[in-house]
Amino acid sequence: MPGILFSSWGGEVVDNRGKAPQDFGAVTSIDLPEYFGDREIIKGFMGWNGIVIRSPDVDIVDLSRAYLTAVLDHSKTCGKCNYCKTGWEEMLDVIEDIAKGDATEEDLEFMQSAAEAIISNAKCSIGKIGPNPFLESLRYFADDFAKAARGERTVNRGTYRSKLTAPCMDACPLHLDVPKYIEHIKDAKFAESLEVIQERLPLPGTLGRACFRPCESRCRRAIVDEAISIKALKRFVADHAWDQRKSAPYTINPSETTGKVAIVGAGPAGLTCAFFLATRGHQVTVYEKLGHPGGMSVVGIPDYRLPRSILQQEVALLENLGVTFHFNQSVGKDVTLSQLEERFDAVFIGIGAHQSPAMGIEGEPEGYSGVFAGLDYLKAINDGQDPYPEGKTVVVIGGGNVAIDCARSSLRLNKEEVHLVYRRTRDEMPADPAEIQEAQEERVVFHFLTAPVRIRGKNGKVTGIECIRMELGPPDKSGRPRPIPIEGSGFVFECDIVVSAIGQLTDTAVLQGVEDVRTTPRKTIAVDECTKQSDRPKLFFAGDCETGPDSLVSACAGGRKAALSIDRWIHHQPLECDSEDHFDRFFRSVKVFEPNEKILKVESRSRLNPPALPLEKRVPGFDEVEQAFSAKEAVAEAERCLRCYQVATIAV
Ligand SMILES: Cc1cc2nc3c(=O)[nH]c(=O)nc-3n(C[C@H](O)[C@H](O)[C@H](O)COP(=O)(O)OP(=O)(O)OC[C@H]3O[C@@H](n4cnc5c(N)ncnc54)[C@H](O)[C@@H]3O)c2cc1C
Repeated sequence: MPGILFSSWGGEVVDNRGKAPQDFGAVTSIDLPEYFGDREIIKGFMGWNGIVIRSPDVDIVDLSRAYLTAVLDHSKTCGKCNYCKTGWEEMLDVIEDIAKGDATEEDLEFMQSAAEAIISNAKCSIGKIGPNPFLESLRYFADDFAKAARGERTVNRGTYRSKLTAPCMDACPLHLDVPKYIEHIKDAKFAESLEVIQERLPLPGTLGRACFRPCESRCRRAIVDEAISIKALKRFVADHAWDQRKSAPYTINPSETTGKVAIVGAGPAGLTCAFFLATRGHQVTVYEKLGHPGGMSVVGIPDYRLPRSILQQEVALLENLGVTFHFNQSVGKDVTLSQLEERFDAVFIGIGAHQSPAMGIEGEPEGYSGVFAGLDYLKAINDGQDPYPEGKTVVVIGGGNVAIDCARSSLRLNKEEVHLVYRRTRDEMPADPAEIQEAQEERVVFHFLTAPVRIRGKNGKVTGIECIRMELGPPDKSGRPRPIPIEGSGFVFECDIVVSAIGQLTDTAVLQGVEDVRTTPRKTIAVDECTKQSDRPKLFFAGDCETGPDSLVSACAGGRKAALSIDRWIHHQPLECDSEDHFDRFFRSVKVFEPNEKILKVESRSRLNPPALPLEKRVPGFDEVEQAFSAKEAVAEAERCLRCYQVATIAV
């Protein structure tokens, strides 16, 4: 990387001070962005893995002071380790003296030993990792510190942006403070834990059951042994509060100016947006096409993974906040977007992606009975029906979660044979590996490297599906190996139900009569990434209709961001990316999670998984498979958390 004066990032020390730019050594361990946001130039950075200085304007003493201030601020939220409690404060006092030119050699030595004592005695990474960059600044910039301490040079004050993160927090689209809510569980403070979650998420019971848990895939504990069961811990506190009838009543902190907002679609995006607007005192009216809230979390995700009563409980809390729901109201048909635009100060649209694309194979246009789009199939099942009672052998096409849900739900309808056909291998399947595993245990038969070619039928009913074997070629646009048909390998599956689960699209008909809203080639709605505002300023979009089919947690994160923007819109404040957005971009570049990190001195302790319904009790029927942790199990699993907080301070 050109233009870096000094870097100690990740143990790679590159010292270009005093060299001509053409002789600068390259920094390979970090990709430090040039800008924080669009306007602020990044001059230097001090964080969990070292120091990077780009501009000679950066005064290392002042950068260290800013970093220590930020760490101290965050270490106060815990206060469990004595050395952390006092050490950071004392170091900060000394560095203030150094900045005033009023310190001694002993003060510098004291800072060194205080930082080392924190590392040796602290229990979490604020203390174990936090002092490292500071120790590096003392080591590599000793002269700058010594001269400042003796008053032989003036310490220049800079401008800084600091933030606390952790690999799990960073990976979560909502940036839930995972270490904090897990820490409360360690202390058996379950209500406090739930409050931390609810600061950003009004659907903890729902996501505690069905979140795809990006946090767990970035859990540092996995480097030692296995990731923490974060999703199951979230579910535990949500259920515990519910069982104790202690679900925290939400408080309304009205904004100075309040307005009227319409929400189109009561899926996770719409519900989250409604929640954040209602807690700011805005008058919120939700228009939902179906007769109930929840969107795909109810009509898509089957009951054995997420009982619909959970969502109902969580929505009841929203109703208590004064959110009004109009069900069976299809926007675009019963009321138009233009009418909503006239009646409300802003409109949020979270209509999801409910259209099923055709497979585009022969026999599909015949419309044989027994052929279903995955979403229609699941919607019927989740509504308590068997979509095609006379069918006994099911072939599901697809490799995502919808395909797995179709297959596992078919078993629960007591179908005799359930096959899943996927054109790549198990390694490329986008479905959650845990779901694939459970489907196999429950006796779904997987056929990898197989693609459908033609649907066969007789007397208007499906009788089978012709397939062809595939082999993997070079990567395609998605980066996954391209499946290539093997000539002459065709064969027929005899079956009486074919379910195609190959993706979902947004129905953009809702936009009819509304100009200026752009759609993308993927048939999603184009909005500003940070604010969720469309080209038509009163209309905000988020969730699957913005991102394409994604996840509950992304939809909630989009709904939250849109609510914050709508609040600003109602206050006539400018809508632009905020500090959290800038840090998101920054962390994507410098990488918060390092899978090859060496973590020392942590005793290995296996992950506790929540109990599951025994295999023989799962099929037929739709009883919930994953069960809740007991309080004892939850505390024990929480104790495995390494509390991997890390602080970033950027000189701008
Ligand atoms: C089968 C299946 C299983 C899944 N499993 C998981 C999982 O385990 N974990 C996970 O994280 N994600 C899962 N997902 C993805 C997740 O459900 C979605 O990403 C998420 O629900 C998207 O939320 P949303 O609010 O954007 O849209 P939706 O949940 O789709 O909600 C949109 C709402 O808008 C309503 N609507 C649509 N058009 C109109 C209109 N014109 N007027 C009024 N209302 C309208 C719809 O009826 C619906 O209620 C799954 C998806 C499917 C299909």
